Amino acid sequence: MTKNEVSHYDAVVVGAGVTGMYMVYKLQELGFSVRGFDTASDVGGTWYWNRYPGCRLDTESFAYAYFFLAGITPEWTWSERFAGQPELLAYARYAADKMNIRKNIQFNTGVISATFDDQSNMWRLSLDGGSSVTCRFLLTAVGLLSATRLPKIAGIENFKGVAFHTSRWPRDPDGGNEGQPLDIAGKRVGIIGTGATGVQLIPQLAKTAGELYVFQRSPNWCTPLRNGPLSSEEMGKIRADRNELLEYLKTTPVGFPYKPYERNGVDETPEAREAFLEKLYSTPGYGIWLANYQDIIVNRQTNDFIADFVANKIRQRVKDPVVAEKLIPKDHPFGSKRIPMETDYYETYNQGNVHLVDIKETPIEKMTPKGIQTTREEIELDIVILATGFDAITGSLDRIDIRGKGGVKLADTWEDGPITYLGLQVKGFPNLFTLVGPHNGATFCNVGVCGNLQVEWMADMLTYLRDNGISYVEAREDAQKKWTDDVYADFEQTLLTQGNAWWVKIKQHADGTTTRRALAYIGGGPRYREICDQVEKQGYAGFELRRTTDA
Ligand SMILES: Cc1cc2nc3c(=O)[nH]c(=O)nc-3n(C[C@H](O)[C@H](O)[C@H](O)COP(=O)(O)OP(=O)(O)OC[C@H]3O[C@@H](n4cnc5c(N)ncnc54)[C@H](O)[C@@H]3O)c2cc1C
Repeated sequence: MTKNEVSHYDAVVVGAGVTGMYMVYKLQELGFSVRGFDTASDVGGTWYWNRYPGCRLDTESFAYAYFFLAGITPEWTWSERFAGQPELLAYARYAADKMNIRKNIQFNTGVISATFDDQSNMWRLSLDGGSSVTCRFLLTAVGLLSATRLPKIAGIENFKGVAFHTSRWPRDPDGGNEGQPLDIAGKRVGIIGTGATGVQLIPQLAKTAGELYVFQRSPNWCTPLRNGPLSSEEMGKIRADRNELLEYLKTTPVGFPYKPYERNGVDETPEAREAFLEKLYSTPGYGIWLANYQDIIVNRQTNDFIADFVANKIRQRVKDPVVAEKLIPKDHPFGSKRIPMETDYYETYNQGNVHLVDIKETPIEKMTPKGIQTTREEIELDIVILATGFDAITGSLDRIDIRGKGGVKLADTWEDGPITYLGLQVKGFPNLFTLVGPHNGATFCNVGVCGNLQVEWMADMLTYLRDNGISYVEAREDAQKKWTDDVYADFEQTLLTQGNAWWVKIKQHADGTTTRRALAYIGGGPRYREICDQVEKQGYAGFELRRTTDA
């Protein structure tokens, strides 16, 4: 296609991670003309980009897969309870082959801008390389954790060694020819950041690095993943009970195979609490967060019991008491930020080659040609790894110049926090749907299941619109206001407001004040889907629908 030719599609899907892949598949099956775009050279999204050693799921593999595709899940064999990135990428590629979707996805192509044309009632997208396409419906599946966040460190460009963000780890040979695998053996390595990624990566680096310096601003509550192989018997049982498992996951708050324990921590005896927490701590996965006392996230006293329990575990596992204290969070309740799941993370600090640098105590001043200068010393390094996370949930949307009616920019509309209806639409941006976006019930969830349930709901809605000759959909003001107010109100009732988690948008104002707005809907998957089902039953209540002739 030349630069001047503009193709038109019923729908465009931006992003070819697990969500976008399934959306393209559903639309192609339903006979819509659909085009997917991704900056990446292949499918997989998160699992395409994040290739650092130790990168893996903390959702059980078998609970994350495409349940919805008979013919795919039954054949696939997960080797581990919590699959690693290579296996997840292989799964995504395998699923793409089975769904036969690559023919409708254009890779190596970022969407730079999207503008709604009031006259033609269509979106016009400009793409990397200078071409454009138009579409009636625009569906974004750009990822909740995909816009990399880089630290603002003076002199970063002067560093003479190798520096990169964890999601841009030098590629393995089949990963897009973007560099050689990284050899860290014997090297002086610095890693900035101790969130979920840092916690997965640090023990891996410590195995071979000559010296490893961990630059920590604030510690997180980390608990053991306890990964292990899945036997063929276990896999067989999972396959046989697959539908039952899916039905169960639909009933749990966040699509993981856990439900809260229906007792309050404050009502238990200390002995009962200790025994219960000990059991959760020794069980694989997120039970300690998601199957814990039902008041964990609303009652500070219960939360403190759990935090004390985990703090004592850290003290037992880290030999140097000074280091142990530095690794214990003091600034946020347990579970108010995502709990990084760890494998030997704390024991890593008992190794002679691992050094914890507390950058609250001795902040980083700058990067020098040789390494990192803190207020105490210059640390010489060969490699600096930026495990600094993502501009979460709204970041990838903000990075596209999205203009709705009257040229209004989406990022400006959300300046003080997202405003949405169902976390899917925004008034003034007709025919745009943000899958797994802000204030959306699939985002604070096991995306493998919740994202795909949302895709199915979306596919039903688009079919309804087509069947009824509707070409224009826009969130109504009142519905949007109620949804947004409810999302913020739910969030305020929890301890989640107290941690600087990636699901909180923190904005410092010029007058020195700070606002903290929820980016996530925390009402749970079942409630969210119930609301969406009601909306559907009522002919898509809360949306203004116009037929082609009225538009
Ligand atoms: C290290 C890590 C571990 C995780 N572990 C879990 C877990 O255990 N359980 C869980 O539920 N979730 C986990 N997540 C969250 C994870 O992102 C989701 O599970 C899921 O992969 C999201 O899928 P997605 O398709 O919605 O988005 P993504 O997989 O993020 O895909 C988005 C795609 O959009 C593309 N894109 C973005 N902007 C543009 C643009 N302008 N133009 C073109 N393409 C664009 C990106 O290149 C990317 O390929 C993890 C995330 C990370 C980073």
